[in-house]
Amino acid sequence: MAEVKVLLEGYASTDTGGHSCSTITLVKDKGMNILVDPGTLKSQDIIKEKLGEHDMTTGDIDIVFITHSHMDHYRNIGMFPRSRVLDYWGWWESDVWRECDGKVTDDITVIKTPGHSYDSVTLVVKTENGTVAICGDVFWKKDYPEKDNFASEHEQLTESRRKVLEISDYVIPGHGGMYAATD
Ligand SMILES: [Zn+2]
Repeated sequence: MAEVKVLLEGYASTDTGGHSCSTITLVKDKGMNILVDPGTLKSQDIIKEKLGEHDMTTGDIDIVFITHSHMDHYRNIGMFPRSRVLDYWGWWESDVWRECDGKVTDDITVIKTPGHSYDSVTLVVKTENGTVAICGDVFWKKDYPEKDNFASEHEQLTESRRKVLEISDYVIPGHGGMYAATD
């Protein structure tokens, strides 16, 4: 079973008077380390310190997963020298692209959850404590925002929110801490 750890709870500019960073999450499975949304951050040292708390460095990250192509989620994408990148389009390794069939490991899959943006994807992770959906800005925080003024397609977003809550026991939103899913 995979393990999930929130390295940093994100925050949104609507709460902070302009500062914005995604929630940054570490997923471990079968000796592989996945970092979800490396965010913006005031300093890249913060990510190094958070990894250090788990005896890891940026060189230990095998895969960087990007939930969607908004800058507050991917500005630090270049910090991980060994990592492949997985996003809506598929796998990126150095300058080569190939499609992803949605399966990362037996316990980790990628599903499309459009609406906040057309390219929003959710990492679905099976852990000992249940299924965790790391969903980017499908939700910014628990039950928030009611109406997403940044959404590109509101009906799709409603459907994606329904899907995320249906398949998961826990949700890690784009700009807040993990919470239990209740539909
Ligand atoms: Zn965001």
